[in-house]
Amino acid sequence: MPKNEKKAIKLIFLGAPGAGKGTQAELTAKKYNIPTISTGAMLREAIAAGTELGKTAAGYVESGALVPDDIIVGIMRDRILQPDCENGFILDGFPRTIAQAVALGESGTEISVVIDIEVPDEKIIDRMSGRCVCADCGATYHLVYNPTGDGVHCDKCGGELILRRDDDPVVVARRLKTYHTETEPLVGYYEGRGTLSRVDGDGKVEDITAKIFEVIDGYIAAEN
Ligand code: AMP
Repeated sequence: MPKNEKKAIKLIFLGAPGAGKGTQAELTAKKYNIPTISTGAMLREAIAAGTELGKTAAGYVESGALVPDDIIVGIMRDRILQPDCENGFILDGFPRTIAQAVALGESGTEISVVIDIEVPDEKIIDRMSGRCVCADCGATYHLVYNPTGDGVHCDKCGGELILRRDDDPVVVARRLKTYHTETEPLVGYYEGRGTLSRVDGDGKVEDITAKIFEVIDGYIAAEN
């Protein structure tokens, strides 16, 4: 890397569904001027558009199961090669299995920091019961903890707010179980590689954001 050239910031946000990854990823993306790549949002878009990927993924997403690794790895490989990822990116919701993490490593992608946003299960269930998304732009809100100005329309584009089908209580329970069995082992996986930072995600959005920025700034200071 030539001198004076800043190293790309390649981040992974780990955590249970509803831990706040999407909200924190959006704020982090703005501050460091890097894109957020959310596999969940990509899948929801594909389902809404009725593409082949959407048709394949719909059953898995709506029942709270994981989409097979080979499908997800394929779409992520293409996505992180796009020009907007040149200065780095935030992966929100990927990898979600050890096999996905291994595939990411094998693609030659060197991850800067993995931030594990930790929230107890009972808080997750409480949070997910009021979660909603904009039907048009996909921005995420919460009816109680992060409402929009008028409570029914998106602050960004004025679109209508809808509840996510996979936030149904039975599906939430299944997604949490899937998280503990399939995704949580990644905490140990990245800890073993020295890239993991744990952040307590049970608190005010702005306090958690501040802790995340502290971790990233620490990485940047050490690298540049
Ligand atoms: P999310 O918005 O990240 O909570 O993802 C919503 C749903 O999309 C998940 O419950 C899975 O069905 C699917 N999904 C998202 N990311 C992945 C991934 N990396 N691997 C497998 N399935 C995924």
